[in-house]
Amino acid sequence: MLLSFPLYHKQKSYAIMFMGDNMKNFTMRDEGFICEHCQKEVLPLGYTARDHCPYCLYSKHVDILPGDRKNTCQGLLRPIGIEKFKDTFKIIYQCELCHEKHKNIVAKDDDIEQIISLSIE
Ligand SMILES: [Zn+2]
Ligand SMILES: [Zn+2]
Repeated sequence: MLLSFPLYHKQKSYAIMFMGDNMKNFTMRDEGFICEHCQKEVLPLGYTARDHCPYCLYSKHVDILPGDRKNTCQGLLRPIGIEKFKDTFKIIYQCELCHEKHKNIVAKDDDIEQIISLSIE
């Protein structure tokens, strides 16, 4: 995203620069979406970027780094397992399109039944 602002809008152009594609640091995007697997409406998470559906745990292959939404694959990420990560867990995914593996940290409102069933498979 490249926008030019008149010089007297210095503060505004700084904010735009920060969100620009040239920035090495990325901004996490926490946004709601309709799950492409179970069709349920998923609301933004509120404390970090929402990256998977809390109902069926499916995710979408949109990130290269967590939350950056820079991956062009856009395939469905199928949850295939769980692994321990610090005080929490990560869901292990495999992309149905490019078959790459991906991991997301569980969210606080994820369906615990789904997590448990993944951990015993
Ligand atoms: Zn879902
Ligand atoms: Zn993929």
